[in-house]
Formats: sequence, C-alpha cells, structure tokens
Amino acid sequence: MSMSKNLIIAIDGPAGSGKSTTAKIVAQKLGYLYIDTGAMYRAITFLAIRDKILDNQEKIIELAKSCKIELNFTNGKTSIKVNDEDLTDEIRSVDVNKNVSDVSKIEDVRKVLVKKQREIGVSGPGIVMEGRDITTVVFPDADVKIFLTATLDERAIRRAKEYAENGTKIPVENIRENLHRRDTIDSNRKVSPLRKVEDAVVVDTSYVTIDEQVKIILDVVTKKANESGIEININ
Ligand code: C5P
Repeated sequence: MSMSKNLIIAIDGPAGSGKSTTAKIVAQKLGYLYIDTGAMYRAITFLAIRDKILDNQEKIIELAKSCKIELNFTNGKTSIKVNDEDLTDEIRSVDVNKNVSDVSKIEDVRKVLVKKQREIGVSGPGIVMEGRDITTVVFPDADVKIFLTATLDERAIRRAKEYAENGTKIPVENIRENLHRRDTIDSNRKVSPLRKVEDAVVVDTSYVTIDEQVKIILDVVTKKANESGIEININ
C-alpha cells in the first residue's frame, strides 16, 4: 500500500516515441505536474554550445551545478527557463539534437539533474515524469512505470511532421538518422542507460492513436490507484 496521497507516474522510452505528447495529456487529465526531463538535458546542451564549452566536461558539470532551471507546465504547454532566460524554443534546435546525447553521458551532469528532478517530483501534487532513466534511476519506486516505444520509421515520420507544423522542413531521413544515433548512445552509455525495467508496462505506439495511448496509460493508473486506495479524478 502506497503511503503517498498522489501517484508518481514514470514514463521512459526512445526519442520520438510519443512520451511528451502522451505524458502531457495524462498529466492534464489527472491535474498532475508534467515534467519533461529531456528539456533539462537539452538546456544544459544549448548553453554548453553557446558558451563553446562542449569539449570541456568539467565546465559543463560546473554549468549544470550552477544554473537555476525552472520547468513550467501551464494550459498544456511546457516552457523552460534557465537563470531566468526563456529557452523553450532554443532547446529544440538541430544543433542541440546532435549534441544532447553526448552531454547526457556525463555522470556528474546526470547527478545534478536527477537531484533536481527528485526535488520537483516530491514537491508537487502527483507527477507524470518522462525521460530515459525515470523508471530505473530517478523514481525506481514509482507507482506506475510505462515504457513507451514505436518503430524507428514511425518515430521519424512523426518528428518530421511536428517540425513541419512548426515551420521547419527537415528531411525524414535526417531525423531518422538523429533518432537512431541518440537511441544508440542513450541505450549503450555506462551511466543510467535507457532500458525497460521488468515491472514496466510496455506500450507500443506505432499503430495506435494518441487517444488510445492515453487511455491505455490511464487504465493502468486507475488500476494502481484503486489497489493503493488513492483517489484520482480524471477530467
Ligand atoms: O526526451 P528528449 O528526446 O527531448 O531527450 C533529449 C536527450 O536527453 C535524450 O536523447 C537523452 O540523451 C537525454 N535524456 C537523458 N535522460 C533523461 C531524459 C533525456 O539522458 N531522463
């Protein structure tokens, strides 16, 4: 029986598997906090590129330790500020995509960010947190653990569409290459690699709609809440 009054819902999975879209809706429906941990790794990467310190691990660690990161989630939209500077759009650049997995390999950068993630996680109402190591490292005792996945082709097509909707045309092939490269680094790194834990529920999003993905997860959440005697309200 869980002692917490709210649930911790942890979602991991490869790049472009639909984690953000799904997690956001699930959080909104439950009135929970949504935390995109990838945004934090992206922000450090963006600053490291801007400060031209990408080749200096010590400086990147220093940067991670010294900056103030604020994640915001209002009306279904997420934004991120670092030292009061809004970096919401900047962290999605092609340059950040290229370098973020290498920055994320640095053990001390992860230590700093995991600590921040745990602090946010226990401070709020219930949370839906997504990333690569949430079910394994950040909240291994999460009430609900989901591993979201989809075929590489499907993920690349979705990302290309998202970029196109925001006015950026990037060939699917380039996106496919970047997703594949990031998956390989993220799954094979020494520290906190992306992997599915035994008790995670696998949701393959390749051939289901967003509504269906959300429903599958909410069903798992409802079952857990009933078992644990935790009250939830789904809007
Ligand atoms: O989720 P998103 O694709 O925005 O994450 C960007 C990158 O940040 C990932 O490819 C991974 O290298 C890193 N990341 C991580 N651990 C997390 C979340 C993201 O290493 N919990």
